[in-house]
Amino acid sequence: MNAVELTAVTKTYGRTRALDAVDLTFDRGVTGLLGPNGAGKTTLLRIVATSIGADSGDVRLLGRDPHGSHAELTAIRRELGYLPQELGYPGDMTAFGFVEYVAVLKEWNDRRRRLREVRRVLELVGLGTMATKRVSRLSGGQRRRVALAQALLGDPRILVLDEPTTGLDPTQRADLRRTLSALGGHCAVLLSTHQTEDVAALCERVVVLAGGTVRFDGTVTDLVATA
Ligand code: ADP
Ligand code: ADP
Repeated sequence: MNAVELTAVTKTYGRTRALDAVDLTFDRGVTGLLGPNGAGKTTLLRIVATSIGADSGDVRLLGRDPHGSHAELTAIRRELGYLPQELGYPGDMTAFGFVEYVAVLKEWNDRRRRLREVRRVLELVGLGTMATKRVSRLSGGQRRRVALAQALLGDPRILVLDEPTTGLDPTQRADLRRTLSALGGHCAVLLSTHQTEDVAALCERVVVLAGGTVRFDGTVTDLVATA
């Protein structure tokens, strides 16, 4: 069983076919999604993150059906981290408060374990000392790291990152690379980016989308060879 199995997945918005009968599977390791604006990258990531459903085709996450029961969906979401392109921070939350709020949404009801896990992910992204700061007072890069921290909650088996390197400086990019390669051993990491350098630095596998279909699927070396 692959962590992510997409079979003939189609999604349309009005007359726009954002994804057109896409077949893809993902298992452990880091995969980069490349493609021009409007290629369908965000749509694909949102489907894998269970944030939207497909119109047709089959989506299997950790062998489960995200359109199944509430219990099935909750079971998937506990093992899935998602960093959307834009993340809203309700109210005037602290970094800690925000990450804990996401943990509560995952229905982690044991408070002591929850607090320990929130501290762990904030330290993992280097925000241990900033935990009590309000998100609104953090820099753009720090805010992105808060967003990354919530995606890392519970050491997920599927991690979906929509343009995670946007707004990061070279040092932060190197830190992200270290975090992801540590995870890639046991987690299916899917990330989208516009930067080919990111792909070379971060990804073992590359999938190129254009017009809602897969145009390339292979290693970075093969991609460079075909370019
Ligand atoms: P990418 O992330 O590669 O830029 P998207 O998945 O965001 O591509 O978009 C794929 C296509 O679907 C585009 O033509 C886009 O305009 C359209 N699209 C995406 N989301 C919506 C939406 N919520 N409403 C209408 N059209 C959308
Ligand atoms: P519950 O907390 O509802 O009893 P479980 O204890 O069965 O759920 O946890 C299921 C999985 O979810 C665990 O394997 C663990 O990785 C994760 N998990 C549950 N609660 C927490 C928590 N508070 N902090 C971190 N991970 C948790």
